[in-house]
Amino acid sequence: SETTPRYRRVILKLSGESLCRPGERGISMEEVGVIASQIVQAHALGCQIGVVVGGGNILRGAQFTSTSGSKIEEATAHYMGMLATVINAMALQAGLESLGCNTRVMSAIKMDGVCEQFIRRRAIRHMEKGRIVVLAAGTGSPFVTTDTAAAQRALELGADIVLKATRVDGVYSEDPEKNPHAVLYRELDYETVIGQNLRVMDGTAISQCREHGMPVLVFNFKKDGNIVKAVSGGRVGTRIVA
Ligand code: UDP
Repeated sequence: SETTPRYRRVILKLSGESLCRPGERGISMEEVGVIASQIVQAHALGCQIGVVVGGGNILRGAQFTSTSGSKIEEATAHYMGMLATVINAMALQAGLESLGCNTRVMSAIKMDGVCEQFIRRRAIRHMEKGRIVVLAAGTGSPFVTTDTAAAQRALELGADIVLKATRVDGVYSEDPEKNPHAVLYRELDYETVIGQNLRVMDGTAISQCREHGMPVLVFNFKKDGNIVKAVSGGRVGTRIVA
């Protein structure tokens, strides 16, 4: 039923844009509150949750370097993007804790005085103790995105699934903003995703999930109740399976 969580432990990938007003940048604590309350509801069902938070509302490394000419090395811009995710993680922690949910921020880049360092076994322990873990700074390495971090953390933390929260309802046959007749897939396998070059997550993330049989659910975070539906295995979004 919808009130029992189907998944024991999930990694929720939240893009940075889920923390700002549509079409804007930066952080809106109002939007943070909306997402936080959905996460808390899902957590209250008894599902352990690790949130991998993006940074696109502040800075994306690849984009920043390409619009800055040769004035900044791409690797530097990626580190800036990772730091952006730490800022987002702190905002999300504030939102979750203001709703009464114990939360720990763990960063892949050591940042004493700001948050804990990501240590796999400690992250698992936090989740077992009922704390939501917000995983910041992606993988800690440049040239990938937080999609890869979500895949990586899901695998090493023993999650049942990656829940990828996006602006659209799932994976379509074509861009739904260009073709109104585009079909929303309910379920796909990795072969089809790769073969048809469907844009689900970045390539590294997809191949890692595929290689290790980690399912991914792509769904719309904008619709209230969807995160609860996602953790309880309700009919929402597109499920990608091995
Ligand atoms: N980033 C990185 N390594 C990581 C994760 C993120 O270098 O493991 C950088 C990368 O430049 C990325 C930026 O941080 O563009 C912000 O993350 P992302 O683009 O995934 O944010 P989202 O689109 O989910 O908001």
